[in-house]
Amino acid sequence: MSRVYNFSAGPAVLPEEVLREVAAEMMDYNGTGMSVMEMSHRSAAFEEIIESAEKDLRELMGIPDNYKVLFLQGGASLQFAMIPMNLMKNKVADYIVTGQWAKKAYEEAKKYGTVNKIATSEDKTFSYIPDCSDLPVSEDADYVYICENNTIYGTKFKTLPNTKGKDLVADVSSCFLSEPVDVSKYAILYGGVQKNIGPAGMVIAIVREDLITDDVLPGTPTMMKYKTHADANSLYNTPNCFCIYVCGKVFKWLKKMGGLEEMKRRNEEKAKILYDFLDSSKLFKGTVRKEDRSLMNVPFITGDKEMDAKFVKAAEAEGLVNLKGHRTVGGMRASIYNAMPKEGVEALVAFMKKFEEENS
Ligand SMILES: *Cc1c(COP(=O)(O)O)cnc(C)c1O
Repeated sequence: MSRVYNFSAGPAVLPEEVLREVAAEMMDYNGTGMSVMEMSHRSAAFEEIIESAEKDLRELMGIPDNYKVLFLQGGASLQFAMIPMNLMKNKVADYIVTGQWAKKAYEEAKKYGTVNKIATSEDKTFSYIPDCSDLPVSEDADYVYICENNTIYGTKFKTLPNTKGKDLVADVSSCFLSEPVDVSKYAILYGGVQKNIGPAGMVIAIVREDLITDDVLPGTPTMMKYKTHADANSLYNTPNCFCIYVCGKVFKWLKKMGGLEEMKRRNEEKAKILYDFLDSSKLFKGTVRKEDRSLMNVPFITGDKEMDAKFVKAAEAEGLVNLKGHRTVGGMRASIYNAMPKEGVEALVAFMKKFEEENS
């Protein structure tokens, strides 16, 4: 067996310990004589899996009792439509557009009402987070929307926007469980789990209970109503059982590692190693305004496309893989999620140093 250091933005690296446990339980989960993939979602064994996954997640994040935890399909992208369909009572929403995912959510919401772009960082290729302390929030806005960590551009909101009393909805796909959060500051926070939690194909939405009603936009499909899934504890139809199982194992791993405070400490330590090197390097440089840098996704460039390509190829040969930047921005991007060990970041920086010496 030979494992690489996988810097993919998603689907992404998972804790080895979790992968080993999953492998060990593949033929016989906990004495059931079958794998989790083969069992009914109504079985006692699976009920225990989904219940303890929710319980562990609630504990990790300190989710208040008046929030529901929903395990949904359709990825983060389906939430771009579910959010307006469930929340747009006045048919007005304000969006802060800090990257492509926020932009996609903004474009989708336009299908359902009046959508205002109240701030954007598009003028500088989304390389910073705009000042959101005093935005022109619409008086009748049903919610204010952000993408909290911009996976492609590597920026992160370090303080949440001042929504002037309006509900805040946040896509946290690429910073989910990377540090402690105060859930009560959000109306909804949601994320695709394939970035920092588990396998692809599921989103976890944490939704304040008063927003879960039958009062949705006319024509909203049953499967796209939060209430459908909340009433059935995410078992209205067959959920992504295997994904819930793996996520549950990751939650247990996070608890064992010391929880989100400890994750934050580790993530800051890892990111610092890479950012410090970028700040001192003559060949490589980061592309994001310093105060807005993400702990999870670190884009960088040499300024020369051929050199970038040479670097990505050479790194791959060293077992440092998936460092190519997003197809829309080029350069490189290292995603250093919870499951990326510090040794992986150290190996990357050591290789970058060597590459720099050889190429200058
Ligand atoms: C990856 C990503 C998405 C899209 O997730 P899907 O599950 O593929 O729909 C949305 N938002 C952010 C911030 C992402 O990183």
